[in-house]
Amino acid sequence: MNNDPANAALKELRQRLNQVDEEIVRLLAKRLDTVGLIAKEKAGSTQAIRDPEREREVLARVETLAQSLGLSAPLARKIFSEIISYSVSRQVASLAGIEGERTEVAVAFQGSSLTYNNLAAEQYLASQGLRGRFVGLPTLKQVIDSLASGAADLAFLPIENTVAGSINQVYDVLREQDLHIVGEESYRVELCLAATADVPASALRRILSHPLALDQCSAFVAALPQAHAVPFLDTREAMRAVAEARDPTLAAIGSPEAAAAHELRILSRNVGNQDEILMRYVALARAPISVDVRVPCKTSLILSTRHEKGALLRCLHVLAEYGLSMTKLESRPRPNRPWEYMFFIDFEGNVAQERAALALEALRSEALYLKILGCYPAKATPAEAQTTTLPEASEVTIAPPEAPPATPSAGRTVPGQPVVRASKHYRLADRATHPEDTVIRVGSLLIGGTGFVVIAGPCSVESEDQINRTALFVREQGAHILRGGVFKPRTGPYSFQGLGRDGLDLLAAAGKAAGLPIITEVMTIDQVHPVAEKADILQIGARNMQNFPLLSAVGKVDRPVLLKRGLSSTIEEWLAAAEYILAQGNGQVILCERGIRTFESATRNTLDLSAVVVLRERTHLPIVVDPSHGTGKRPYVAPMAWAARACGAHGVSIEVHPEPDKALSDGDQSLDFPEFKALMEGLSRVRV
Ligand code: PEP
Ligand code: MN
Repeated sequence: MNNDPANAALKELRQRLNQVDEEIVRLLAKRLDTVGLIAKEKAGSTQAIRDPEREREVLARVETLAQSLGLSAPLARKIFSEIISYSVSRQVASLAGIEGERTEVAVAFQGSSLTYNNLAAEQYLASQGLRGRFVGLPTLKQVIDSLASGAADLAFLPIENTVAGSINQVYDVLREQDLHIVGEESYRVELCLAATADVPASALRRILSHPLALDQCSAFVAALPQAHAVPFLDTREAMRAVAEARDPTLAAIGSPEAAAAHELRILSRNVGNQDEILMRYVALARAPISVDVRVPCKTSLILSTRHEKGALLRCLHVLAEYGLSMTKLESRPRPNRPWEYMFFIDFEGNVAQERAALALEALRSEALYLKILGCYPAKATPAEAQTTTLPEASEVTIAPPEAPPATPSAGRTVPGQPVVRASKHYRLADRATHPEDTVIRVGSLLIGGTGFVVIAGPCSVESEDQINRTALFVREQGAHILRGGVFKPRTGPYSFQGLGRDGLDLLAAAGKAAGLPIITEVMTIDQVHPVAEKADILQIGARNMQNFPLLSAVGKVDRPVLLKRGLSSTIEEWLAAAEYILAQGNGQVILCERGIRTFESATRNTLDLSAVVVLRERTHLPIVVDPSHGTGKRPYVAPMAWAARACGAHGVSIEVHPEPDKALSDGDQSLDFPEFKALMEGLSRVRV
């Protein structure tokens, strides 16, 4: 076998691959050296550590390069986002004076080695450029004692989780002990199911893991009919127990590292209730640290309010007055005081800054009790949201649309002064109630206000290949959101009705791979919850604009809703329909003009662009235009998209298909790839 020439060739190729990998690591080290030099430069200046503009530029450059080399641009973005974030934390560490302070730091954590606590502690120390000696201890008390006694330099504790929420015992430690938060870490928990043999999940009888990990996988475990969960000391010990028992009906949930250490087979990855589960950790020390004011910082504190009406509100008001953004508010019972609470607050700010110091002073006089837990470099904050922008116009010449009007009509509204008489059918949607434009956040995108969003994708999800290719292409052209119908409202019952739940999974996977949020239509109330779990935006189709129970159902979930205008609905009826959603508590409504029925038959519908200017006047909600359904004909789509931008829409929704002539729905109005590229180029030329 070994003399087989195919084998020799494979060996040689693998060797080549190893060399490439080594080269990548060497280059990463070189990049980090350069980052170190930059940090030194910055130390002597007042330059900010994070420069979002520069980071965007770096990402755009590598994406373009990747694309020109035939590599996936989203992959390049993902890798470089990680590299940049690591580089920033190294710069922060060096400015915080942590780096190089000691040769080795003793870090105590709860649990065994290769538990998430251990892996997260390693990640934290590495990001500080420090070498650690990691000491796993069985109980939280032992971890705290080891820090207090000086045996450990840092105690590294999990404080909250994006599925399970806060970890109360750690909050209690912060309240009781005189220790200081000197750092935080956000760690991605990879929950793997592992067993001694490659058995089907249906053969499993017992699943061992730490109670917190079992909680985070409750849906997966509940779906295994024969298996029940067994709480274990920690995830590593669960893996060990499974390996030692040699019983193929036993499995454990824990880190892939722990599974590998016990030579277990990973049966499933990411068995958590959410796609991405993050754990926030805090590093505690005996003394507080001071952090350079240029480093983005968080301050954590505990306060008890006076027993007066509005006491908490007054404390929060202090933070707002000093322009400090609160990132977390948590309440815990006050010991021996039934139904009284202590509040844990995190805000973005550094106690060394004047406004933070003044705010703390004001808080002290408002509160009954206040304790500062620490001020430390921030790592666990929501992704910075960006107003949606279009790529710069390229050199390709396309006849630009007619010069747009100078400003959309919203420019004429005076905040606080209603320009139109309030309707009796809608109050919450009325601009008179909310003079400022509503801006809706989807991941790190902002829809509404001054941005312009491009939603693009096929009418229907048809296959994995079709949706993946479309997703990557529209993403490359600068689209922001991927669309694709999976439950289709077709005129006739014999037409393609959509791929249903399977289509939703394909759409979600394509969106994830391309780094795009997804939108899809819901037609019935029972689709709302399952779709809301996977889709970033829910669409209500034109035919359902006045399906009032459905509107109320989407009003009860925390997902933005794109509400299409009914085929024969007036603007008044449309806004009243939006009000049904708002009235249930969901304020994230986007209106979508998609053409109405008129006597005109040259186009599929009559795209009513005047609705955009009317709506900009009457409502604060974002407005998107769908020229695909609005015209029904491919050649008309791009000019109407440009016109939509010119008249003040906040975005467009465009149907795109790799092979429109073979599309299972709406092929006549779907753009092929070159047509969509041209549409995008034209859009970036429209000046508003
Ligand atoms: C769609 O966007 O896929 C759709 C069916 O549109 P409408 O509800 O506007 O007909
Ligand atoms: Mn369609």
